[in-house]
Amino acid sequence: MDNEIFDFFNTDLQFIHGVGPVLASKFNEVLGGRRVLDFLLHIPSYVRPREILDSVVGAQNGDTITISLQIKSHKKGGVFRGRRAPTQIVCADKFAAPVTIQFFNTKFLDYWTEKLPIGAWRIVSGKLDFNSRGAIINHPDFIETPENAYKIPAHQAIYPSGEGLTQKNFANVRDEIFKIMHERIATYKLSERMMELLDALEHVHFPESNDDLAPNGTYVAKLAYSELLAHQSAIAINRRMRISQKNTRPVRESKKNLVDKFYEILPFQLTGAQQRTIDEIFADFKKPVPMMRLVQGDVGSGKTMVAMAAAVKMAESGAQTVILAPTDTLAQQHFAKLQPMCEKLGLYCDILTGRDKGAPRREKLISLKSGRTKIAIGTHALFSNDVEYKDLGLVIIDEQHRFGVDQRSAIRAKGNNPDMLALSATPIPRTLSMTVYGDMDISIINEKPAGRMPIKTSKLPIARADALIERIKPQIDNGAKVFWVCPLVAESENSDMMAAEARFNELNKHFPGTGLCHGQMDKKQRDGVMNEFADVNSKMRVLVSTTVIEVGIDVPSATIMVIENAERFGLAALHQLRGRVGRGSKQSFCILLYGNNVSPDGIKRLDVLCETDDGFVIAEQDLMMRGVGELLGTKQSGWIQYHFVNYREHRDLFKLAQTAAMNNNDDDAVWAKTLRRIFNCSTIAGA
Ligand code: ADP
Ligand code: MG
Repeated sequence: MDNEIFDFFNTDLQFIHGVGPVLASKFNEVLGGRRVLDFLLHIPSYVRPREILDSVVGAQNGDTITISLQIKSHKKGGVFRGRRAPTQIVCADKFAAPVTIQFFNTKFLDYWTEKLPIGAWRIVSGKLDFNSRGAIINHPDFIETPENAYKIPAHQAIYPSGEGLTQKNFANVRDEIFKIMHERIATYKLSERMMELLDALEHVHFPESNDDLAPNGTYVAKLAYSELLAHQSAIAINRRMRISQKNTRPVRESKKNLVDKFYEILPFQLTGAQQRTIDEIFADFKKPVPMMRLVQGDVGSGKTMVAMAAAVKMAESGAQTVILAPTDTLAQQHFAKLQPMCEKLGLYCDILTGRDKGAPRREKLISLKSGRTKIAIGTHALFSNDVEYKDLGLVIIDEQHRFGVDQRSAIRAKGNNPDMLALSATPIPRTLSMTVYGDMDISIINEKPAGRMPIKTSKLPIARADALIERIKPQIDNGAKVFWVCPLVAESENSDMMAAEARFNELNKHFPGTGLCHGQMDKKQRDGVMNEFADVNSKMRVLVSTTVIEVGIDVPSATIMVIENAERFGLAALHQLRGRVGRGSKQSFCILLYGNNVSPDGIKRLDVLCETDDGFVIAEQDLMMRGVGELLGTKQSGWIQYHFVNYREHRDLFKLAQTAAMNNNDDDAVWAKTLRRIFNCSTIAGA
């Protein structure tokens, strides 16, 4: 049945005719995989028409045109007195309007002059460059004889690409894959559903117009629904497994009362939302099935204390808790905050990160294994192979989306059906949270601690940065700390890097001791700078950072956040960044600096941030504006990256797929399993 086709789906692209290992690894980078299936799931973003025109007259600079040209003369290029001149093929269209074809790669001079003899006609397709010398096509995408004009696709599918891959590479692989597929299909006995799915894939890979690629067009909508069904069925299975008899654990007995003592030593009153969430967690502890709860709370809503309350409750029965943080710095910060409380409660709390080595590490492991350590804070080091727990009762995952499925199940495996508590600062709009986190119970902390002043947010053109520096001087003299974020699109983009370094040098002149933190520093250096900035007594008042500052880092004395080229970030990412300030009792500010090339839409997005502080409203807006290009920070923001699903356009499909997944019959179940295989959806409970 349908399983047969997975042999083909799983074929390594390097075995596709014309590919080979080098190209396959380039595809791997763009596709996130190197199987035929990975290619099939990567669909073109638009269609470029290449219908043949008679004349260049009327075409605009920058247009992609396809035109019949007659070759008139050759001007050989080469290197003349150190300057490189292109090879030029001077042509004319049917109405004698001149068009010049240029090649800069001087290695192929003779090749082109032979290929394009004077007097011959060719169909040439490429980007038109109108300048003072007339109409020029540099390095045409296609040059064909009139008989072979059919080789130029009238509607070319344009794939999202990456370094070292051309659209021709994509087209060739696609043609090969579908050729083989047609041969194979004849020998397989595929279900009708599979045939329909393959047909939809074929249509989107060979689109005839942009309508074929529209999110709500027949084909993409069908694929999106299939993808959602895969995810939703995985969620439904996970939920069923979780509440099934196999997955029970004993309800733990409290041996002493530590929670009341915890409330006593808290330096503040919990918010109503914090208390409600804690009550929900305690109620879960009383049930015979392990807890699987997600706490969603905006940045600064006080999730850490909720986690601590849960850990303290667990400790009442003698069981252990691990608190997993995505970075060393965050782990350290949690430890610094929670360890003194643990001491007052008579609980042994420890930290374990990748930095722990040798004898000290061994001692920590012994303490974990003996059960003396009741609360272990740390990074992935907490679930290394040689780490054992006496009785791991609760796993708390901070900023849960930063951990992969495998990591989450690795830590679960250290205990016997431990309770799970995930913390997330990404508010998912209510309409979607049920479907995105469908197998978890959700608590929402929708209230900020009392006395917090809203952060004053404003936007400013980058040209006014000097004035801004003057404005923050007095604040710094008064003890304020400043985060200054410069975006880095890709670590390899040196110009961005230089911009950040130039900004750092400049700020250092105004504010000596300014820190710099970027992705090319090693982790230790970076952590060092972060920790120094977080230290209340350090002289570092300003921190320039190219990488998105550690999610969750808490520097209460930081009251100013400047974000350069804010228009390049996603709204949710900006909101997260802004949440790094406004944590103390002083008024905080966020200044969004925008570049010269900002679009009207970009300004509109920044306005949303200036107007509201409500993470749910921002998440909703982020969702609505999603899909307009790649914005920074969207990958980290906790949204599932789908192949075909568009959050904005396919909202109705979420509910449909969810309902279908919950009510499926045997036939559907087989198909859902196939879809999960295609879309790589794991069904480990809790994954
Ligand atoms: P997040 O939800 O972003 O993880 P944190 O747990 O780091 O937020 O809390 C942010 C800050 O607010 C911390 O300094 C914390 O001590 C403080 N805090 C938490 N709860 C309260 C409260 N109920 N009242 C006052 N301050 C609080
Ligand atoms: Mg936090």
